[in-house]
This record gives sequence, structure tokens and C-alpha cells, in this order.
Amino acid sequence: MIRIKNISKSYDGVAALREVSFDVGKGEILGLVGPNGSGKTTLLKSLVGVVRPDSGQAWIAGVDSTEDALEARKHVGYSPGDPALYDSLSVLEILEFAIGFHPEADLSLGMKLLDLFGVSLEKRAGKLSHGMKRKLLLAQALASQAPVLILDEPMEGLDPEVRKTAEKILVELAGRGRAILMSSHDLAGLERTCHRVAFLREGRLLDVGELEDFLEQASRVLRIRF
Ligand code: ADP
Repeated sequence: MIRIKNISKSYDGVAALREVSFDVGKGEILGLVGPNGSGKTTLLKSLVGVVRPDSGQAWIAGVDSTEDALEARKHVGYSPGDPALYDSLSVLEILEFAIGFHPEADLSLGMKLLDLFGVSLEKRAGKLSHGMKRKLLLAQALASQAPVLILDEPMEGLDPEVRKTAEKILVELAGRGRAILMSSHDLAGLERTCHRVAFLREGRLLDVGELEDFLEQASRVLRIRF
């Protein structure tokens, strides 16, 4: 459902991504991990057309997102890492606008999720805390009902209860055939949700595989136990 082939991107001559390639299959949750600055956000933005890669290609549900980002975007529920929202709009207005891209979106699902997350629909975005903004971004991605979800640190800033609920929803959505790619620093959360992880360092894909193998390797290299 997501195919990434040789994506490279530099900012002012400094490489942020170097020939990154991997796939995420139907029904799979793949965690994207790596230190700060390793290129996770740049990769996710490249997939949804927010950033234009210098070279390489990516397909979302069969659509080449480097050729036709708008068409590819219809198939993706995207939760960005940086919650930049129009302060004067209400939560409901933002939800309605965001899911407008998606032919199969379910507004009532988005409203139910926000209720579950404890975010008032009438509140103006400018009055939302960081955690509430994250909840809104996650709710809009899930309500898109898109076959592919691309989530940049979706659990960051969420309280533990909401985090558990969100994790359950992601696992259930994958069980129903969605392909989910999400970046995270939370190894325990990744262990609860992900089937595989892709590890980036300095813009290079070091490995894609089972989280267990990754933890074992890391503990051998670093001589620490996770
Ligand atoms: P991560 O999400 O893993 O923290 P990023 O994709 O945000 O990594 O960043 C990868 C590299 O690209 C970093 O060196 C970062 O400083 C650089 N970078 C990211 N966005 C920009 C930008 N808009 N302009 C210049 N450099 C950027």
C-alpha cells in the first residue's frame, strides 16, 4: 500500500534522506524510528507531498505521490508532527475541512473520537493545548477512513489513557486492512502496536525488521537492555 523507492532529499546541500526504500503492506503497522534529525519527518512529508523529494518515487495505494500528490493525498489520513492550525477556526470546522479531501471520510467518527479524547468541538484552535491539538490531528487522520495512515509522532503529548485507546484503534484499523506508517520515540508503544520497524540514521535506512530483532541488536551494540 505504501512503496518508497530511493527517496533522497537535501536542504541547502545537506542530505536529510539518502536513497530510502521500503514498503508497508495492507494490514501492517510499521514504526519509523531514529534519533532526532535522522529524516523521519522529511520522509513522511515527502510521502504526502508537503516536501518534494530531489529524487526517487513513492506510491500510495498505487498512486505515484511524487507525480500526483493531490490524487495520492485522497488515499492518506495524515497527522503531521507540527500542529499548525488556524487559530480562529473551531475544532469542528478544522475536522470538517481536513476530512473534506477524503471521499470515504466519516465526520461522525471524527466527532466521536474527539468526544472520547475529551476535546470540545466548539473550542477555537488558538485555545487548544499542545496535547489537544495532537488529539485533533489524530482524530482527523482516523476519521478520513483512508486506506493508508501516515502519522508523525501521533502519540506525542497524549495522556496514557488516550494513548492506550488510540493504540487499540490503530491495531483494529490494521486488522481491517489499513496500512499504517508512524514515527515514534516510544519503544514500548511501538512494541504494543507495530509489526515491523524501519530504523533511520542520518537520512539512511539502516534496517527494516521485527522490533524484537532491532531491540536485541541495539542492546548488543549499546550493551544496554531496553
Ligand atoms: P526527524 O524527524 O528524524 O527529527 P527531520 O526530517 O525533521 O528529522 O530532519 C532531518 C534533517 O533535515 C535535519 O538535519 C534537519 O535539520 C533538516 N531539515 C528538516 N527540515 C528542514 C528545513 N525545512 N530546512 C532545512 N533543513 C531541514
